[in-house]
Amino acid sequence: MRHPYAKTDLHLHLDGSLRMETILTLAARQGAALPAATPDGLTPYCMVPPDCHSLAEYLACFRLPLSVLQTADALRYAASELVITLGMQGLTCAEIRFAPQLHGQRGLAQAGAVEAVLAGVQDGRRRYPFLKAGVILCMMTTGSDADNAETVRLALAYRDKGVCAVDLAGQEDARPMQEYAGLLAPARDAGLPITLHAGEAGTYRNVALAVKLGARRIGHGTHAANAPKLLRQLVAQGIVLEQCLTSNVQTQCVGSYQSHPIRRLFDAGVKIAVCTDNMTVSGTTLAREYQILRDVHGFTDDELAVLARYAREASFVA
Ligand SMILES: [Zn+2]
Repeated sequence: MRHPYAKTDLHLHLDGSLRMETILTLAARQGAALPAATPDGLTPYCMVPPDCHSLAEYLACFRLPLSVLQTADALRYAASELVITLGMQGLTCAEIRFAPQLHGQRGLAQAGAVEAVLAGVQDGRRRYPFLKAGVILCMMTTGSDADNAETVRLALAYRDKGVCAVDLAGQEDARPMQEYAGLLAPARDAGLPITLHAGEAGTYRNVALAVKLGARRIGHGTHAANAPKLLRQLVAQGIVLEQCLTSNVQTQCVGSYQSHPIRRLFDAGVKIAVCTDNMTVSGTTLAREYQILRDVHGFTDDELAVLARYAREASFVA
């Protein structure tokens, strides 16, 4: 499905966006056993059910795709396939994020993982040269300081080779947000763009802290909607919220599509980039997310065009 305004996806996790066919191909190449041999058969293991109502259920869907992404070859292939998928969907700009420290189960160093994904993105772009693509490296809230420091170091080292920003992902309340100030300092000092997951499972206070830590965009930031003073600050500073409606409903960040505050955020003047988060795990596409805004929240064509512009202007890809 295509949508005239669904052109830029700034929040898209590599491991959560692999097509089932890609998972099957990678497992076959690796001689790895899978619980099913067809894309449909894999669906229950990699895509949350329509009635998903727990974060644990959501996170469990990453296990299988991650298990086949533990070699440089697999990462390169997966990144290339994802870029081709996005190109086929008609996107013109995408920022693909992943946590290099999650791909070392078989000894692959973070640097090797980064190089593989960057090479895969270039492979994919040869098929779709009109698609601008960047890679965001995620620190993990569950990662060690040493591993997270290495992620930031690599983000800086590969800045001119396709890495466009650094992020913090994982269980939001695993550690207080302010404890990442030191880890993020080298990125902030060097002017490397920062986007942080905040205000999804955690409260609006994490959004305020993320801005303090230097984030120019926030992954989700949905709970900021309950804090009028913070909203005014986001508007004044032009901070962009990467909003992923389907994912927010599935992880119980919000109770339903109808109760999602995206309309309130938009009307308050907050810049919003509509994103997918995880195309496979969430069972969605960027086109579908835009369609939901029209169907559920009554966004007009003009308003969808504004959202598309916000996303394009907020991209970290040069
Ligand atoms: Zn995310």
